[in-house]
Parts: sequence; C-alpha cells; structure tokens
Amino acid sequence: MNAYKLDESAPRCLECGDPIPYGRSDRKYCCDKCRHRWHNRETRRLHRRNARIIGILEKNYGILEHLLKIGVDSVLKTDLVQMGFTLDFLTSCRKVGRRMVCRCFDIRYEETESQVRNLSFDRFSLDGED
Ligand SMILES: [Zn+2]
Repeated sequence: MNAYKLDESAPRCLECGDPIPYGRSDRKYCCDKCRHRWHNRETRRLHRRNARIIGILEKNYGILEHLLKIGVDSVLKTDLVQMGFTLDFLTSCRKVGRRMVCRCFDIRYEETESQVRNLSFDRFSLDGED
C-alpha cells in the first residue's frame, strides 16, 4: 500500500499558502474561496492606493487653485511644501523648449529648480463635455 505523499515542489496557494496538489501547473489558488479572498483583498488594496493618490492630487489642486484665486501666479516650491503641496504628484509634465510645463488637472504651471510659476487655468475640452 502506498501512502499519499505531498509533493513539496507543488505550487502554493497565494491566499492560504497550502500546496496545490493537482490541476494546471500555473494554478495560483487551492480553491475558489481562496481565489475570491485574494482578489477581493487585492482590489481593496488598489482602491485604497488610488484613493490616496487622488487625495494628494486634490490637495495639490486645491492649493494651486487657492493661489490663483488670490492672484498669485508664482510661488517658491519651499512655500508650496509648507502649504502641504506634494511636489512629486501631478497629472502631467513635459519639456517644452527649455521649460518644464506641468499640470495638475486643469491648472498649468512651469516648474523651475526652485519655483512654480506662470500658474494658470488651462481650460480644455474633454470628449463629451463642453
Ligand atoms: Zn488556499
């Protein structure tokens, strides 16, 4: 009589860590319950990450929008950081000639080593909007 022997080289379930003793060699989960748990947790993790990033962008936008509303179009980066601005979060940035032109949603600005300048609303039309 042969005893069942677990193949130690069998892939392990991403959710519970149990070996996956049968099935396709690229199986990642031991059962549907583990597959659903893993995917639900991963989806929640991605939503939290995206919400955190959107939150930072919205805060940056609010700071720039406030500056524009009070008539400020140039500001030192150190002052922006003091206001709670996170410099690395923007929605686009590209080199135009020798200038670095960046956007946070529809606010456009130029970035230098020490300054954000020429702040302006850059109203643009998105498909489906006026
Ligand atoms: Zn499992």
